Amino acid sequence: MLQTAPNIYLVLSPELYILTASNLYLEATETTRETIVGKHIFEAFPENPELPDASGVKNINASLQEVLRTGKPHKMRIQRYDVPDIHHPGKFITRYWDPSHTPVFDDNGALSYIIQLANNVTEQVLADKVRQKLEISERHFRLLADLVPAKISNARPNGEVTYFNQRWLDYAHLSFEELRDFGYYQMMHPDEIPVFTERLAAAAKEKKPIEMEMRFKNAAGDYRWHLNIASPVLDDNGEITMWVGSTTEIQRLKEDDQRKSDFIGMVSHELKTPLTSLTAILQVVETKLRKSDDTFVTGALEKANQQTKRMSQLINGFLNISRLESGKIAIERRSFLIGGLIREVIEEVSLAGTTHIFELQSCGKTVVQADQPKISSVLSNLLSNAVKYSPKGSRIWVSCEAFEGELRVSIADEGIGIRPEDREKIFERFYRVKSNSHISGFGIGLYLSAEIVEHHGGRIWVESETGKGSVFYFTLPLNKSAARNQ
Ligand code: ADP
Repeated sequence: MLQTAPNIYLVLSPELYILTASNLYLEATETTRETIVGKHIFEAFPENPELPDASGVKNINASLQEVLRTGKPHKMRIQRYDVPDIHHPGKFITRYWDPSHTPVFDDNGALSYIIQLANNVTEQVLADKVRQKLEISERHFRLLADLVPAKISNARPNGEVTYFNQRWLDYAHLSFEELRDFGYYQMMHPDEIPVFTERLAAAAKEKKPIEMEMRFKNAAGDYRWHLNIASPVLDDNGEITMWVGSTTEIQRLKEDDQRKSDFIGMVSHELKTPLTSLTAILQVVETKLRKSDDTFVTGALEKANQQTKRMSQLINGFLNISRLESGKIAIERRSFLIGGLIREVIEEVSLAGTTHIFELQSCGKTVVQADQPKISSVLSNLLSNAVKYSPKGSRIWVSCEAFEGELRVSIADEGIGIRPEDREKIFERFYRVKSNSHISGFGIGLYLSAEIVEHHGGRIWVESETGKGSVFYFTLPLNKSAARNQ
C-alpha cells in the first residue's frame, strides 16, 4: 500500500481492524501509525464523550456493515467525528468528514480489506455554520428593522448606503435600488446638508454618534421634520465598519412646538400693550409727584417702576423666544466699546438692589461689531444669574480678553455652582436645575443668551464647581476693523 498517496485513507481488515493508514490520514486525525495500526477502528477512534448526541461511531459502523453485507462501496453524508487531542489527553478536536467505504476483493472473490477514504471538511462546515448564523441574524435584524416605526439605514464608511428598511422605501415610494441611486442626500433639505455633512465628518473623526433635527422630502415632495441619529459601528480595532441611521419623524411634535411658541409670542405681545400704558402712566405720575414731600408715595412709585421694568424684561424674554423660533431674530451690528456696555449693565443690575460686589477687570478699548441691545441682554442675563445663584455680599468678577481674533468675556461668581450633568442642559429652552426651583425663573435666559451669541458666530460655555461657584464665558469674533482699535 502506498502510504504516501495524496489521499486520506485508512485500510481496515474485514473484522474492522486497522491495517494501515496514509500519511495524510494520520495528519488529519493527529495520530501516529504505531498508535492505531492493529487496533479495532472504534478503539483507535472512540466517540467524543463530551458530545451527548454524537453519532459518528454509529453511522460509520452502519456504513461499514452495509459494505460487509452488500459487498458494494458506500458513500456517507458529511459526518462529525471528533478525533482525540494528543496534546490534551481526554480532550477531542472537532472534525467533520465526508467518508466513503470501498471493499477490495482477492482473486477468489473473498473480501481482503475495506478502504475508508475521507476528506477533512471541518473548515468548510464551520464556515458554512457561521454564514448560516449570520444569515439568520441578518434576517432577524431586517425583520426588527421593518417592525420599528423609525426609518433605519446602514451605510459603509464611505457613505454608500447598503440598506434601507421598509419605512424608508414607503416614505420615498422608491425601491431599494432607486432610493440608493437617488441618494439619501437628495432627500435632505438643502438648508441642513452643510451642517449635517460637517457634523458627520466630525463624528467620523471622533467615532461618536450624532443627533440632528432635520427635514427629509417625502414622495409628495413635502419636507417633514425628523430626528436623525447616525451611529458608527466599530470593529475590534476601533475602526468604523458601518454607520447605522435611525430617522424618526417628529413633524407633529414640531408643529405642536410651533403652536406653543406662537402662543407664547401672542400672549407676550398682548401683555406688552397694557404694560406699556402702565409704564407711561407711572411716568406721568412720577413727573407730577417729583416735588412731593410724601416719601412713602415717592418710594412706592420707584418700586412700582422697578417692578414694571422687571416685568417688561420678562415679557421681552418670551417675545424674543417666539421671534427666535420663527426665525425672525435679526442681528443688527454696529461698533461699540464692550467695556462701556459691561459697565452700563453692571450699573443696571446693581441698581435693582443687590449687595454683591462687582469687580470689573479693564476691557481696554476693545471695540466689537455686534447687536448692542442683544449683547446687553446676554450680559444682563449672566450678571443677574450670578447675583441670583450666589450668596448676598459675595464677589462677582467680570473680565474680557481679546486674542486670536476673538473677544472672550467671563463672569465668575462664588455661588452654588452647577453639577456636571446640568452643565450642558442649562443652555436648553426652559431647563432649570431642579434643586433651585425655589429661586424664581423660567429657564429661558441662558437659552436666549446662547442663541444670541451663536447668531453672532461666537460660543458660550460654563465652568463650574458645585458649592464653589461658576464661570460663564462667551466669545464674539473680532473683525479686522474692530481689532485695529484694541
Ligand atoms: P433661570 O435663571 O430663569 O432659571 P436661566 O436660563 O438663566 O434660567 O438658567 C438656567 C438654570 O441654570 C438656572 O435655573 C440655574 O439652575 C442654572 N444657573 C444659571 N446661572 C447660574 C449660576 N451663575 N450659578 C449656578 N446656577 C446657575
